[in-house]
Amino acid sequence: MRVIDGHAHLEGIQDIDNDLGKAREAGVAAVIAVGSETGSNKRALELAASHKNFVFPALGLHPWNLKDDFSRDIEFIEENIGKCVALGEVGIDFKYDKDRNLQVSALEKILEIAQRSEKPVIMHTRWAWKEAFEMVKQRGLKRIVFHWYSGPLDVLRGVLDLGCHVSASPAAEYSEYHRQAIREVPLDRLLLETDTPVRYRDHVSRPIDVLKTLSAVSKLKGIPDEEVAEATTKNAIELFGLQL
Ligand SMILES: [Zn+2]
Repeated sequence: MRVIDGHAHLEGIQDIDNDLGKAREAGVAAVIAVGSETGSNKRALELAASHKNFVFPALGLHPWNLKDDFSRDIEFIEENIGKCVALGEVGIDFKYDKDRNLQVSALEKILEIAQRSEKPVIMHTRWAWKEAFEMVKQRGLKRIVFHWYSGPLDVLRGVLDLGCHVSASPAAEYSEYHRQAIREVPLDRLLLETDTPVRYRDHVSRPIDVLKTLSAVSKLKGIPDEEVAEATTKNAIELFGLQL
């Protein structure tokens, strides 16, 4: 059985070789290292180079890391677009105290790059689910991951109709909004993730915790771990074009 952690902030981990080694031993076949701005994007590229065919880089511009002038961050992404498997973490967050127009204009730029480069996009959409969905729909983009989706079910149905993916985090163990979403997502659109090093209740996550996500999702769906592992790993390999 092998699983893929589709969303990890590896720049936040001190003893990275140790944590990646433990994950690999436990059956994690790959980790998507997402970036949030130029510093963490550089780190994702470095880690992908030093852990070939295991760590795969995504280049992002997180709404929490948005500067008033984000042009340098966009330039870095464009210069390195050939090295990444996806754009992420990007998105909009209307719970976060940052000018909404600025957030939307940054995401527009990223979606433009996605369209040109044909890269999939890993999106953060907290309290902005409908707006993010509309932006994606308007451009006719499908290769989008709505990461840790916890929004309304009517928007989720639109997301699924469009052909997008949703990723489950360890919060699938206890967060009711996330759980109701994951119940709705068919297996062929589902990915697993940790959002490492996010803290879930009293536990600081690591890539190995994608196994907790796996077990929570299997329980929600009432099917064996193996079935969820096989489907989500296949989805991630296809969506990100991974060579394992
Ligand atoms: Zn994240």
